[in-house]
Amino acid sequence: MSVIEVENLSFRYNGIDVLQDITFSARKGDYIGLVGPNGSGKTTLVKAILGIAGPFRGRVRLFGRELRDFREWSKIGYLPQSLTFFNPYFPSTVREIVSLGLLSRKKFPRVLTRADGEAIDRVLGLLNIAGIGDSPIGELSGGQKQRVLIARAVVNDPELLILDEPTTALDPDARELFFAILKRLNAERGTVMILVTHDIGSIGEHANKLLYVDRRVLFYGGFDEFCRSERMTTFFGSESQHIICHRH
Ligand code: ADP
Repeated sequence: MSVIEVENLSFRYNGIDVLQDITFSARKGDYIGLVGPNGSGKTTLVKAILGIAGPFRGRVRLFGRELRDFREWSKIGYLPQSLTFFNPYFPSTVREIVSLGLLSRKKFPRVLTRADGEAIDRVLGLLNIAGIGDSPIGELSGGQKQRVLIARAVVNDPELLILDEPTTALDPDARELFFAILKRLNAERGTVMILVTHDIGSIGEHANKLLYVDRRVLFYGGFDEFCRSERMTTFFGSESQHIICHRH
């Protein structure tokens, strides 16, 4: 079954076409690198899929359901681009922020169980932030905050994880750890990953599919196909194609 189906999606913003006729689908186990120049519509596409940008023309289905009928949001983890919602006086601890990721799947009354506590411990350990569980979020560095948000996005064991430029605030070690975690979730649980990135030089190390968007879909498919495609060589030039392909 498809996890995401997007058909002929078009989106206009202030009379300007931001997305034109986007069609692609993703199934269990896919790890998609969503790339494209600045302003090419990547974030808008992700927001449209999540039902937070609209209205649009065309069709989006999640886990086989039309977007407007979809209710199982706890199957989806989303790590947005912006960290700005943390002001320095935000009064929550790291554990509290991560626990928000679990509350979304609960019905009222939303009480955390002992198993929830253990899931939080596990994910804090996984991201090497167990030692700062009780720290106020406002006191952390940018890289630490980013790891807390990653923890919140994965603590729920989502079947689809959408990450918008997730590593910009991470140092190289944290970035490596982060990609190792994604890889494990993808390999062991088949979690579908959509990773928005401008880092075309290393996306081939992580993802197994490439979705290249510049308002339209310029390419969607496997890296082998992309790297052998003469159409893509003509389109991007052999140098740009090589940047994407050399580490694949
Ligand atoms: P990307 O994520 O690829 O950088 P975006 O989806 O953020 O691209 O933006 C696509 C286009 O939509 C850009 O031209 C951008 O200027 C425009 N856009 C997106 N959001 C807004 C907004 N809130 N106000 C004005 N323009 C916007």
